[in-house]
Amino acid sequence: MTQLISLKGVTRRFTSQPTFTERLARRFTGAKSGATVVHAVEDVSLHVGRGETLGLVGESGCGKSTLGRIAAGILQPTAGSAEIDGVPVMQHGRKRTTRVQMVFQDPFASLNPRMRVGDTISEGPRAHGLVSRDGAQSDVIRWLAAVGLDAEAAQRFPHQFSGGQRQRVAIARALAMHPDALICDEPVASLDVSIQAQIINLFLQLRRDLNLTMLFISHDLSVVRHVSDRIAVMYLGRIVETGRTEAVFNAPAHPYTRALLDSAPRLAADGAPAQDIHPIRGELPSPIHPPPGCSFHQRCAFAQESCKQELPLLRPAGEQREVACHFPLR
Ligand code: SF4
Repeated sequence: MTQLISLKGVTRRFTSQPTFTERLARRFTGAKSGATVVHAVEDVSLHVGRGETLGLVGESGCGKSTLGRIAAGILQPTAGSAEIDGVPVMQHGRKRTTRVQMVFQDPFASLNPRMRVGDTISEGPRAHGLVSRDGAQSDVIRWLAAVGLDAEAAQRFPHQFSGGQRQRVAIARALAMHPDALICDEPVASLDVSIQAQIINLFLQLRRDLNLTMLFISHDLSVVRHVSDRIAVMYLGRIVETGRTEAVFNAPAHPYTRALLDSAPRLAADGAPAQDIHPIRGELPSPIHPPPGCSFHQRCAFAQESCKQELPLLRPAGEQREVACHFPLR
């Protein structure tokens, strides 16, 4: 499978110093003092193949959304590079490519309340010369139909839709740019459970019909399991495990992945809520002062002395599997 989205390091070459590779990172610096550094994303190297859906999971505040925004070209990485088909998504720091589009959690906040839906959908394609003024209306109707909305929706305003319909509008606006890839940041988290299923099915159908590549960010493991070919598990700004979805769900290799699965609400075989839910002990450490060694060691049931000192790097652990742990689970 050819790689479409690449989040990776950049190799620096100096005549007077050894060559070295900076892994992808995004750090935020305190506005006043400049001394406070938030390590939102560190040491990431991640790829999504053409037509593939990669699910990105982890607790709130672990850096998933920051990584999604870097992939979409909305945020510049502090180090490393985000590329689509080998071309940086943010070229020369000014203009970001249209080949990757983003769908956000809250469609109401991401749509202009004073703009008719038809204008919202056609604004981007017209600005980028993807559609003519004459062809804009039929283009809007095409994309509304693709997301399951009638043509008359084009004349309405965002507040005249339900939450699920607004998310369909947001998806139509993204698709109208003819992207190769969608970055979906918690796209069903603000919706009722019954509506979530409809929007997830829409993503699955669009992926099939349009051969879309997706980075699907969610804290909800059942959602990610349903839509993803592969998953990447993120903890405190770092990727700690990647692999085929079913392989990771059936046999997590990283203790954090296991803890995340054990803490997730799920149904037992008889359809009743499962009783054996174990919340992850402790709190997510501060990304301003990440712990030394393995950043999960304070919460890990398998931690040993060396975990407090040595940072485990992401290493191959079987077919299409990587894990960043000194003592991976068997
Ligand atoms: S490296 Fe050590 S502390 Fe970190 S997850 Fe593995 S066993 Fe736990």
